Amino acid sequence: MDHKWDASYDVIVVGSGSGGFAAAITAEKKGLKSLIIEKSSKYGGSSALSGGGVWIPNNPVLKEAGLDDSYEKSKDYLDSTVGNRVSDARKVAYIKRGTEMINFMRDNTSQVQFQYVPGYSDYYPERKGGIPRGRSIECPIFDLRKLGKDLENMRINVLPTKGLVINSYEFHKVNMITRTWIGKRTAVKIGMRLIKSRLTGANYSSLGVALIARLRAAHLETNGELWLSTAFVDYVTEGNRVIGIVAEKNGKRIQIEAKYGVILASGGFSCSQEMREKYLPSPTKVEWTSSAPDQTGDIIDVSLGLGAKLDLMDRVWGAPTVIMPDGTPYFLVADRGIPNMICINQVGERFVNEAVPYHQFVDTMYAKDKPEARSSTCWIIVNEVAKQRYIFMTLFPKQPFHQKWLECGFVKKAHTPAELAKQIGVPADKLTATIERFNRFAENGVDEDFHRGDSAYDRYYGDPTLKNPNLLAMDVGPYYALQVVPGDIGTKGGLLTDEYARVVKEDGSYIEGLFATGNCSSSMMGETYPGPGATIGPSMTFGYVAATYLAEQAKK
Ligand SMILES: Cc1cc2nc3c(=O)[nH]c(=O)nc-3n(C[C@H](O)[C@H](O)[C@H](O)COP(=O)(O)OP(=O)(O)OC[C@H]3O[C@@H](n4cnc5c(N)ncnc54)[C@H](O)[C@@H]3O)c2cc1C
Repeated sequence: MDHKWDASYDVIVVGSGSGGFAAAITAEKKGLKSLIIEKSSKYGGSSALSGGGVWIPNNPVLKEAGLDDSYEKSKDYLDSTVGNRVSDARKVAYIKRGTEMINFMRDNTSQVQFQYVPGYSDYYPERKGGIPRGRSIECPIFDLRKLGKDLENMRINVLPTKGLVINSYEFHKVNMITRTWIGKRTAVKIGMRLIKSRLTGANYSSLGVALIARLRAAHLETNGELWLSTAFVDYVTEGNRVIGIVAEKNGKRIQIEAKYGVILASGGFSCSQEMREKYLPSPTKVEWTSSAPDQTGDIIDVSLGLGAKLDLMDRVWGAPTVIMPDGTPYFLVADRGIPNMICINQVGERFVNEAVPYHQFVDTMYAKDKPEARSSTCWIIVNEVAKQRYIFMTLFPKQPFHQKWLECGFVKKAHTPAELAKQIGVPADKLTATIERFNRFAENGVDEDFHRGDSAYDRYYGDPTLKNPNLLAMDVGPYYALQVVPGDIGTKGGLLTDEYARVVKEDGSYIEGLFATGNCSSSMMGETYPGPGATIGPSMTFGYVAATYLAEQAKK
């Protein structure tokens, strides 16, 4: 059949996050002419808003940092965390091809470089193959001036670092600024960086911004094209093969040919309330996601039309979240490592090890959401000593909560647990007993109920000067409480793919010419989250894998 194409490329990549850029850079470097289409007017997706952590076991950056990792250890760890929820072939491909992707980016681009994040533990370091020192890497600081005018088109993250440029590996140290010398030294280093940028006019970035900026800088060095404000709408097919797409550009429908294939990297469906209600556990709200806008799962229904199989549609990358007075979500990570802090359900009881990895915290909120003790909306409580010592909710140690936060009831404040209980509507005797019991655990350094502080992961954000870095008695007021909802940093269900990132059909065959990576595909991490960076790692790896597959096809 003759098609009237408006444009023609070897490869079309849908979405400009970490997966999309990794795919397009690989395609170009391997000789394919590529186009990225991006629905939003900014490139970068959730990847640009992220912490920029990349978790790829046994990769060369870890080796160079002296980490004792191996293929066998990595496989043991994926088996002991992801288990059989995902095929062995995908787990093996992740370990082997992840390393290949990192080497490829380092060897073929001047910008996509990585550094180790020492000490950022695997999320389950005690499981077989787990590493307490961690396997996370991140991009070094990047001067955004190198992007020139193109910077205007980039999504810039709103992580609450108040203009300070902080590497991931520095954050847990500076969090202890009032407690340790290393905390103070790190704060000075970050301050010097700020002064240097002011003196030189540098525009430093770190975390997800540095990742996307580096990927875009590398992409600009290729001949690859990026069309913003261009949304994928549908496929153009011939038999079982995808040969192009229908897109909407500036309000106009166009058809673009993909000679070898289409790589979907369009993120999940966290921004569609309709899809959330259809697929995710209840309660669920679009306002609770920290992901980038435009993640509306546009590829799902049209892919079902091609016979694609979906998986993990009921799962999110869970993130316990506080909704700020202006409605923006704030994702609690380090705040849950603070020792004089607890989280309680609607009957005033602790229900979880507060310091567990965020996805597990959210799973527990849903699992324990019983009518008699609701936990899907819970409370995080700290006392004044915590406020004096640690960074909490973006505020520095000793910095009081903003008056308007107290006035509008966003932060509840009381001098005793019983008074606080009244304000948040939980039984006063229960909350008082809960805090007294917690205080006894803190004195002994052992959380007999939930084992907080047992895992190296818990301790990463804790206070290393304490007997148990995650436990400190909350025996003096005032006490403060903030409401927590089961938020997310994206969804993890989507098109089932194989070890080559090919989209698999219900009958086990695959759709020719169609590939998917990142949050629009069903995660190769199954129902878990093995380590910091376990969403971006696979997104980049399988973007690379798909483009490499297509480059090999093109040679035949
Ligand atoms: C605050 C925060 C911190 C995080 N920290 C980390 C971390 O440190 N490490 C980690 O691994 N993960 C982290 N995450 C999660 C991570 O950001 C995402 O899981 C990951 O970036 C997803 O990458 P992706 O390539 O699938 O898609 P994205 O980066 O989300 O990109 C998808 C792109 O596709 C575009 N798109 C959508 N629909 C269409 C369409 N129809 N046509 C064209 N384009 C379309 C979107 O606009 C978007 O730009 C974090 C997330 C948040 C919010």
